[in-house]
Amino acid sequence: MKIVVPVKRVVDANVKVGVKADKTGVDIANAKMSMNPFDEIAMEEAVRLKEAGVATEVIAVSAGVAQCQETLRTALALGADRAILIESNEDLQPLAVAKLLRSIVEKEEPQLVILGKQAIDDDNNQTGQMLAALAGLPQATFASKLSVADGKATVTREVDGGAQTLSLTLPAVVTTDLRLNEPRYVTLPNIMKAKKKPLEIVTPADLGVDVTPRLKTLKVAEPPQRSAGMKVPDVATLVEKLRLEAKVL
Ligand code: AMP
Repeated sequence: MKIVVPVKRVVDANVKVGVKADKTGVDIANAKMSMNPFDEIAMEEAVRLKEAGVATEVIAVSAGVAQCQETLRTALALGADRAILIESNEDLQPLAVAKLLRSIVEKEEPQLVILGKQAIDDDNNQTGQMLAALAGLPQATFASKLSVADGKATVTREVDGGAQTLSLTLPAVVTTDLRLNEPRYVTLPNIMKAKKKPLEIVTPADLGVDVTPRLKTLKVAEPPQRSAGMKVPDVATLVEKLRLEAKVL
């Protein structure tokens, strides 16, 4: 059983980003870039399924600039068997990525595609859902537990007020939530081994996909600055201020 894991190169979760001076986006020039954290969880889950003898091959796929090769090498060091870079300098929006992934799914015919539930740069939370629709596959989003047996995936999802368990007929698309697992660390020997694993490079044109952006970001703004707090001497003053100044009572 093959598993495809799409991994996105995003600004590292520990980097504090700011808005560009012209307000067209977030300034990530020279920022440290890493694998999207939800994709690390997806990769970990796929590797565990391989270690458990359920999967036979794990394929990491990334769409974006040439430097996404670094992200793919990390995926290979985490345990993927091979990698595919869909190289493009275009601003790849979720619909375009979903179309690219559909074409990979048609070619590779995996039983499972495990994506992150969202990329922490644009917070779109769209690609997995769009891929499932385009490829005509069942989907379970926000997985906090996944098991695979007898041609079916059983997925537990966290929903308001509890957990929902779904059974999906494979092939299927699953997106990961934070609680699914705790990804392993990349070790030096595995980084060395990853250098020898195959990494194929294709372009959107090779896959016959038009990736022209369809959405335009009009403006990105910093959240408003919080004004300084104040100490009040007693509850009566607090209530008075809430009523007369903040006007929330
Ligand atoms: P999004 O819909 O942009 O929030 O992304 C959800 C998931 O789709 C990510 O966690 C990745 O698994 C996958 N994904 C999004 N963009 C890319 C990309 N450029 N390359 C590979 N995977 C991607």
